[in-house]
Amino acid sequence: MARRATKIVATLGPASSDPALLEQMIRAGVNVVRLNFSHGKAQDHIDRATLVRAAATRAGREVAIMADLQGPKIRVGKFAEGKVLLEPGKKFVLDASRTEPGDINGVGLDYKELPRDVKAGDHLLLNDGLIVLIVDAVRGEQVLTTVKLGGELSNNKGINKMGGGLTAPALTAKDMEDIRTAMSFQADYVAVSFPQNATDMEMARQLCNVAGAEYRFKPGLIAKIERAEAIPNLESILKASDGIMVARGDLAVEVGNAAVPALQKRMIRLAREHDKVVITATQMMESMINAPVPTRAEVSDVANAVLDGTDAVMLSAETAAGRYPLETIIEMANICVEAEKAEDVKLDADFTGMDFSRIDQSIAMGALFTAHHLGCKAIVALTDSGSTPLWMSRHRIHIPIYALTPKLITQRKMALYRNVRPLLMDQSADRDMALADAEAHLKQRGIMATGDIYAITCGEPMGAPGGTNMLKIVRVS
Ligand code: PGA
Ligand code: MN
Repeated sequence: MARRATKIVATLGPASSDPALLEQMIRAGVNVVRLNFSHGKAQDHIDRATLVRAAATRAGREVAIMADLQGPKIRVGKFAEGKVLLEPGKKFVLDASRTEPGDINGVGLDYKELPRDVKAGDHLLLNDGLIVLIVDAVRGEQVLTTVKLGGELSNNKGINKMGGGLTAPALTAKDMEDIRTAMSFQADYVAVSFPQNATDMEMARQLCNVAGAEYRFKPGLIAKIERAEAIPNLESILKASDGIMVARGDLAVEVGNAAVPALQKRMIRLAREHDKVVITATQMMESMINAPVPTRAEVSDVANAVLDGTDAVMLSAETAAGRYPLETIIEMANICVEAEKAEDVKLDADFTGMDFSRIDQSIAMGALFTAHHLGCKAIVALTDSGSTPLWMSRHRIHIPIYALTPKLITQRKMALYRNVRPLLMDQSADRDMALADAEAHLKQRGIMATGDIYAITCGEPMGAPGGTNMLKIVRVS
């Protein structure tokens, strides 16, 4: 299999829960498995996490698990007939006080705050924007609207407000419970849905750390950028998170479809500038839910996300509920490999005017620079926390980064880092021994052969997080 720098996140679901199939999917290229907490009970997720760990072991790969929290449900209530057909120009009432099931004239609300969050003239998008209602007026608990774009509206469909402005808090009571579940199996990443600002992320991190304390575990936090309000707060959200997801599904509804591609590019650039990871998500291979081949547009979409510099591309229904989960992974992996060949390395430009404030970071950049100009076969980082490989992976380079760590949780976390190949290796406390072990390990795996030159970084004393202070250039003897 060709070497691939871009990582693949695949959502687990009924279509991918067969152990043998999941193992094949991991062999074919899945790096991170996403558990979607919008569906299923706590025990289902615990069982699935066990399934993932077992399949990864059989495949001989480490994958990270990402627990994706449901977030606030901003939804309409139920209908007497299960659904209604809304016609353009007709009046429709969203009523927070309504207890009887909905009909053609109106429906109740799961989200009771809606009348406080909207005013006349607002556009409400229902069912991912397939239905548009314009607010005429708010009367007490009732939002009076006129149907602009009609269609079928069924039970519990989601509501978005164009331009944002719904006040629902990002973390619900269910999310807090789900965080406890996710920490019980040490989910490597927790994705927070609909955060508005850095405080939402700080709160989520605190809850994760408290719930993870009994397992002495801290997950990485991913902010799903899918609300209009999150956009002006991007930098502060990035600082409070370990990474972001370009959550194009909800984001497109809130900011308008046409604004999303430019936002995607900006988010990817900003994430890398802040030394954070970024996942590009939703509808990347959508047609493969039902077809064995992607559309030309999907191929270009995945390739362009790679060229934008994303760490990972994500699959949702394609692998959770689609007919061709394995074929989708294979196609996606191929597209990534081809797109990466077309990338140009602008390392010198990246470094122009760059100042370093930390020793470990300077070593990471020194390794990149030297490896690039000397034409090294590989960059090797002996790492405890994974921070050195993370810094290295924020820059485009056609040389693979092998991150050797004695910690399983670090190995798994690095599964998401672009161009980083995480390997588990016991680390000797003696520096020269550790360096020799690393070379033996890489030779044994066929990664390096006699005569190859590589750059290797480590810290003294060995095994202290953030202690990287040494760069060595080695010719394999
Ligand atoms: P979801 O998030 O699939 O959980 O809604 C991703 C998105 O909105 O794009
Ligand atoms: Mn979403």
